[in-house]
Amino acid sequence: MTVALQKHDIAVIGGGIVGSAIAYFLARTGRVGEIAVIEPDPTYEFAATPAANGGIRQLFSLPENIRMAQFGLEFYANFHRELAMEDLPADIGFRRRGYLFVSDGGDHDTMEANHRLQVALGARVDALDTDALRRRFPSVNSSDIALAVHSPDDAWINPHAALMGFRAKARALGVTYVQDRVVDWRTEGAVARDVRLSSGQSLRADCFVLAAGAWSAEIGRMIGLDLPVDPMCRESHYFVTRAEIEPLPFIKAETHLAFGPEGQGFAGGLPDWDQPAGFHLTPQPARFEEVVWPRLAHRVPPLESLKLERSWVGHYARNTFDLNVILGSWQAGAENVFMACGYSGHGIMHAPASGRAIAELILDGGYQSLDLSAFGYGRISAGQPYREKGIV
Ligand SMILES: Cc1cc2nc3c(=O)[nH]c(=O)nc-3n(C[C@H](O)[C@H](O)[C@H](O)COP(=O)(O)OP(=O)(O)OC[C@H]3O[C@@H](n4cnc5c(N)ncnc54)[C@H](O)[C@@H]3O)c2cc1C
Repeated sequence: MTVALQKHDIAVIGGGIVGSAIAYFLARTGRVGEIAVIEPDPTYEFAATPAANGGIRQLFSLPENIRMAQFGLEFYANFHRELAMEDLPADIGFRRRGYLFVSDGGDHDTMEANHRLQVALGARVDALDTDALRRRFPSVNSSDIALAVHSPDDAWINPHAALMGFRAKARALGVTYVQDRVVDWRTEGAVARDVRLSSGQSLRADCFVLAAGAWSAEIGRMIGLDLPVDPMCRESHYFVTRAEIEPLPFIKAETHLAFGPEGQGFAGGLPDWDQPAGFHLTPQPARFEEVVWPRLAHRVPPLESLKLERSWVGHYARNTFDLNVILGSWQAGAENVFMACGYSGHGIMHAPASGRAIAELILDGGYQSLDLSAFGYGRISAGQPYREKGIV
């Protein structure tokens, strides 16, 4: 037997950084009555958010992604003040230590074109040829790098602290976190009515937002919403070295290596594109030794001497259609269903802009601050991918 819970105006499915940012941006308007976030696991053991690097960078090729990251930078820089609780700052470890993209795979023309757009949109990004790169970062092996771009204003945060900050502030603004799991979702005609939860209860709402990361597709299927989103495993490693290395930015290569300074050492990895989609919960330490470490030592030779301290896995919600977020309403389906999923590795930096965007769509009926309609579900139904060019 199902027991009806209190009816809510808005129910957000998934309380990771995206769902929690959406709840926060809705609640802070003061224009919504009851908001519920349905999240089964307050420890976030398998969620992507705590497993992430927490980088926020303006190095994209699509103007929407650049603009969303710029809002993310501005928002996270003020997070400690804006989301403080009773004068207790919400410290998320915001550090402007920059990003460095390196062209080591032959696609420097794309990097150059992207650089022009980034600068035109107001980002401080320096293009560095091989010599300039060697002078700026002598530890980086630039012998096989045709071009690099360095964005010193880009930053990193502690993603778990940001999630906790959003969650605490949302609750202080009246949002209810329901510790439960959606197991079914019911529509009546063109309107979604309620979700059934694993506790046996059901929750009614006027409006639903699907923000369940790598689980979004299985939940969407419950109402016939077909989302091209699957879990992509990303293994990360934390390692330390006694070698002398100048302060480095977060480095990302066309050949997929991605790592940056973290605490007293470094964190990052090399995605395994051959691994089938799905949840793979056990790290493979042998891969670090055989594949990742040699690539690290090639790119930054002092890393030939390092000590691996820890490896862990996390899962991207990978949008297999075009590796970009799917944001907005389910146009052709139930009119009161919104979604924010498929971030493909960009959900920390894009969570603030997504929260603001979904709040505007629901409360004002359209985007007010930044037009993100290019990321709508319509492109999927129309078979028109909207892809990044160059490093994703
Ligand atoms: C190794 C790695 C590095 C990354 N680095 C970066 C980076 O530098 N910068 C960046 O911007 N992004 C990065 N990301 C991506 C980022 O972590 C994600 O895009 C972001 O955390 C997505 O947040 P989310 O809230 O959508 O998903 P999640 O954090 O996964 O949250 C989804 C939530 O949905 C809940 N849920 C699941 N099933 C149900 C259900 N049936 N009912 C209700 N709730 C449910 C889950 O419990 C979970 O808490 C990285 C990711 C990884 C794995």
